[in-house]
This record gives sequence, C-alpha cells and structure tokens, in this order.
Amino acid sequence: MTTQDSRAAADLRARALRVLPGGVNSNVRLDAPPVFFARGEGAWLWDVDGNDYVDHLLGQGPAFLGHAHPEVVARVAEACGTGMVFGAQHPLEVEAAELVRELVGWAEMVRLGMTGTETVQAAFRLARAVTGRTKIVRFEGQYHGWLDNVLIRFEPGPAQVATAGQPPSALADTIVLPWNDLGAVRAALELHGDDVAAIVTEPMMLNQGAIEPAPGFLAGLKELAADAGALLIFDEVITGFRLALGGAAERYGVTPDLAVYGKALAGGFPVAALAGSAELMERFGTAEVNHSGTFNACVMAAAAVVASLEALRDDPPYARVRAHGVALMDGLREAAAEAGVPLRLQGPGIAFHASFAPEGSTPDEIDVRDLRGLRTLDAARYQRFARALADAGVWVAGRGVWYVSAAHGERELDAALTRAAVALR
Ligand code: PLP
Repeated sequence: MTTQDSRAAADLRARALRVLPGGVNSNVRLDAPPVFFARGEGAWLWDVDGNDYVDHLLGQGPAFLGHAHPEVVARVAEACGTGMVFGAQHPLEVEAAELVRELVGWAEMVRLGMTGTETVQAAFRLARAVTGRTKIVRFEGQYHGWLDNVLIRFEPGPAQVATAGQPPSALADTIVLPWNDLGAVRAALELHGDDVAAIVTEPMMLNQGAIEPAPGFLAGLKELAADAGALLIFDEVITGFRLALGGAAERYGVTPDLAVYGKALAGGFPVAALAGSAELMERFGTAEVNHSGTFNACVMAAAAVVASLEALRDDPPYARVRAHGVALMDGLREAAAEAGVPLRLQGPGIAFHASFAPEGSTPDEIDVRDLRGLRTLDAARYQRFARALADAGVWVAGRGVWYVSAAHGERELDAALTRAAVALR
C-alpha cells in the first residue's frame, strides 16, 4: 500500500480541495504527501486508511514528548472543565511562567502568546522600544514566522520578499547576513550599528539544515550586540526545551537578552513565550509597549505548559533522545551505504538534517556551515526520498529535518531503520 493508493485519504483530499485552498491550512504543508492522519500516540501516527508511520516530523516540532502525552492530555482536559478563557488572570498562568523561568534559568519574566510568529513580533517591538532604533539583523535561511517583516526567500544575499502580497517596504529594516560568520556581523554593525535594535538568530539553525553554531559564534554575537547597543534575541521556537531543558542557551552556554519559545513548550498545544530580564520585560507591564491577545495564556495553554514542562523537568529525556537520534543517524548511514546512495546526515541527534551529496561527491567531503553550504546538497533527491519514506511508513519533513521525541524507543528505531532501508532502495 502506498499513500497514493489510499481510498479514504483520496476521498478526504477531494473534499478538502473543494473547501481548503490547496487542501491545507498552512502553505508549509502544500508539498507534503496527501496523507490524512486519524490519530497520533507516542512516536506513531495512523492515517485514515489504517497505515502506521514512525513520526520524525512531530508536528514540525511540538510533539517532543510524543503525541497525546497522557499527563498533558489529562491536565488540559481537567483545566478546560473549569472554563477556558476568562480575559483575566488565573492561577495556572502564574505557574506556567514560573516553570519557564525555572527551566530556562537566565530569564526573570515571561509573557505567554500563542504562536512563534506573533511572539517574535513582540520581541522585535520590545527591542525597538528599548533601543529607539528600527533595524533587525538576522541570518540567511532562518525562519521567524510568516508575517511581512520576517518572511524572506531562503536565498543567499539581501532580504527578498517570499510571497505575492508582501510589500518590499516591510523588509526595509531587515539586514540579512550569512550564519556563522562573525566577520559579516561585525562589518554590518560598523555600517549600520547605530540603527540596529536587535540581532535575532535561531541559536542552532534548524529550519533549514541542522547546523550548530561554530565555536564562539553565539558568544561573539552577544559581544557585538552589546558593543553596538543592540539586543540579542534567540529565536528558540524550535530549540527551546528540546536541545536541553534550558534550550540552546543552556546547550551552548550563551544567554540572550530576550528569547522566544514555542513548540516543545506546550506538548502540542498552541503556546509561545517571550522571556527576558525584568528590566526589559517590565516595559509591557508599565504599558509602554503593547502586547495583547484574547487567547494569551488561556486556561488550556497554561495547563499545557505546566504539564509539559513538569514532565520534562521531572524526567528529563535529553540524553535518551540524543542517543536515539545518534543511533538512528548511524543506522541510516549504514542502510545508505548498503543501498549505494550518498545520504548525508548532520546534527546533534535530538534533531538532524538529511540530504544527499550531489553527483560526483561523497557526503564526507561536504562541509555545511550555512545556507550557502546547504544549497550545494541535492534537496530534490531528498524530497523524492521523503515521499518514499512516507510510502514505507516514516513521516518526515520534505526539507530534510528529522526530530526525535521522548517517546521514541527501540521498537521505533527498528521500524524506522527497516522502513528507511526500503525507501532508500
Ligand atoms: N521561529 C522559528 C525558529 C520557527 O521554527 C517557527 C516555526 O516553525 C517560528 C518562529 C514560527 O512559529 P509559529 O509557526 O508557531 O508561528
């Protein structure tokens, strides 16, 4: 059975195409196989035709604890039974913020929002308010949401609009630089430093590739930002509570001025958070800087944060998840060697990037430190592989990133490797 043969999915697809543009609710999903999932549990997904999949997409990251984590589901259901949104304060939101503060370690105050996209905007607004400046320095290939002032083409070079309807003027305050290149940041700050409100970065580049910061890069950014009078913002929407309890800041030992969290923060529920020092964050509290939202820290959101972060704190899965990812990468490399295909894997295991070396080169020869390096890989071949993986029962992102959850164990490792070997052939 392949995903294309699927009857129930074909019927749903026909209905979806009549009422949902492209049959989807996020353009990111337009290129994925037309599968409809009926259920997810732990590290597994089941489609409407009853096929199972080892899940290495995790809903683009949020299901770090596994799907339908029993404690998260129970806490949210219980909390929702007491009412869902009050337009006022409730105890769980305090608990949620206290937990974020405890786990990230470096921040004093927290604002909860719903999505990474909007919470990045809150960080930018705060940075602009604090510095009285407008420009934002960011990096090629990094993603900070789909709004006009952050969506850019994943191409090397200056910021370019990425969609029809996006005014080029929205990117006028954006300076895009190559990742992992402190010299480029230094040069840009020499030219524009007086206008730069913030440097924003994914502290490990995980939307495109799975590229760790070069030694000294994040510390260098911190120093350059401070010298220029700009803030350093870590966009930890993917890395937060995933690379370590304290996210990338803990893993790499560099603390930003502000950080945005999402995804793993709430075990699959739509919650994001902005964290920073009391001095910075109190600008919201004094009403100098506006940040609002009907659903911010609604009961379900706060309960999901509390349950997810308690689960991560009380039984930290990080060493286990990392070991699983490393074993998976090793097994995939072996299977690729047997199949005679140049699969190339990079990353710290908890998440990693898969692609293919181009014709005429071997995976080991290629050094990928930034978007330009990624562009040398055979992404089209990987997309065909991702399709074959879906047909074989492994669910991954077409852009090459694989996530591992706390629910992945021996059975999932065996299944993923057996199925990937089929797909590779
Ligand atoms: N920032 C990063 C690093 C992300 O990976 C994402 C989403 O993938 C976002 C921001 C946007 O978050 P959301 O999709 O929740 O709006």
